[in-house]
Amino acid sequence: MTATGATPAGPLGLSEQLWEVLACPCPRHEAVVPDEEHSAIRCQACDTTFPVRDGIPVMLLDEATPGPQGIGGAGTQ
Ligand SMILES: [Zn+2]
Repeated sequence: MTATGATPAGPLGLSEQLWEVLACPCPRHEAVVPDEEHSAIRCQACDTTFPVRDGIPVMLLDEATPGPQGIGGAGTQ
């Protein structure tokens, strides 16, 4: 994947700007990180993952895969 366009893409093809504003919709509203292996977005707090479809992050709890502790579950604290 070589970027040839004028807009540099961040992880998962999403812009760095977008990553700055993305947050998990769980009660913690924690920042999210890219999960390149699964082409998904992962919450740092609850490990819930969200799919990316056609370059668009689907930050919906209905579409999410809950983490081991559930959505908003115990994380690092
Ligand atoms: Zn979360």
